[in-house]
Amino acid sequence: MAEDDFFEDLDNTSNIGDVIKESEEQLRQTRELREREKKMIREERRRRMIEETKREKKTEEEQDVHLPPVRGKHKKKSGNEDDVIISLNGVGKSYVKGVPALEDVNIKIRKGEFVFIVGDSGSGKSTLIRLLLRELKPTTGTITVNGMRVDKIRNGKIPKLRRSMGVVFQDFKLLKDRNVYENVAFAQRIIQTPVREMKRNVPNMLAVVGLAGKYKAKPTELSGGEQQRVALARALVNQPPILLCDEPTGNLDPKNTVEIMNLLDRINKNGTTVVVVTHNDKIVNDMQKRVITIKNGVVVSDEEMGVYLDEDN
Ligand code: ADP
Ligand code: MG
Repeated sequence: MAEDDFFEDLDNTSNIGDVIKESEEQLRQTRELREREKKMIREERRRRMIEETKREKKTEEEQDVHLPPVRGKHKKKSGNEDDVIISLNGVGKSYVKGVPALEDVNIKIRKGEFVFIVGDSGSGKSTLIRLLLRELKPTTGTITVNGMRVDKIRNGKIPKLRRSMGVVFQDFKLLKDRNVYENVAFAQRIIQTPVREMKRNVPNMLAVVGLAGKYKAKPTELSGGEQQRVALARALVNQPPILLCDEPTGNLDPKNTVEIMNLLDRINKNGTTVVVVTHNDKIVNDMQKRVITIKNGVVVSDEEMGVYLDEDN
């Protein structure tokens, strides 16, 4: 009997290694639990957004039956729906059949918002931008931009759609053999702006981006930050309601990055809806704007005043 007690005691006495192992295991379990909780919250939020979109879609369809087609600005002013300028409902895009680059994306952006879209390389951010511009057609879902149904718009209306969005890319895409003035004026010529107006608009826009003194310079004579400001002036000179930026600071040093971001903030405060694709976590965290995170083609979070989520933390 005494012997049995002795062995039982031995069993209950753990050595220090076991204690550490045990607490490590506990820690791991707590972490796992927290991860699961976070995931559940994200999924719940996503589910709610999808439901909301479905409800709104239904109301839209019901309204369509009774009302003649109306242009955006003549629609009744009350209600939130009128404030939405970009809307994606159940949007999917597969370049290769069965391999989605985007899957069931539901996003609503209101007039005058500033939104970051973040995610690793290859997560589908540029695909999203190209869908908005109708450079690509979605495989599933509906897209509305500035009152136009992008997914079923006729070819003849695409220029009108694209005029509602100024676009800026990582590599500036300036005309190398034209000077700053001509690069910006180019956008005005495309829409046949009268010369007198153009001569007012282009210098105004160059002043806004802080390049009034460099209107004669060629892109090769400018720094990266200056080139991106020319691209911004070109994107904005026709006064589109929306500005899309795909990795606008990807080729810039930290100082120019901050300057471009401040400029985007000012442009937004002036009323333009701004959508910025980036994977610069520092600027995202500094700016305190809405952040939509895409992972493997799926929206995994959408937060007002968000931060760049590092999923591994
Ligand atoms: P991001 O801009 O977030 O880096 P993309 O939208 O460019 O991501 O790409 C998303 C996915 O779609 C990637 O897997 C990419 O390889 C694929 N993809 C992008 N463009 C094409 C294309 N033109 N043809 C086939 N696959 C493409
Ligand atoms: Mg990209």
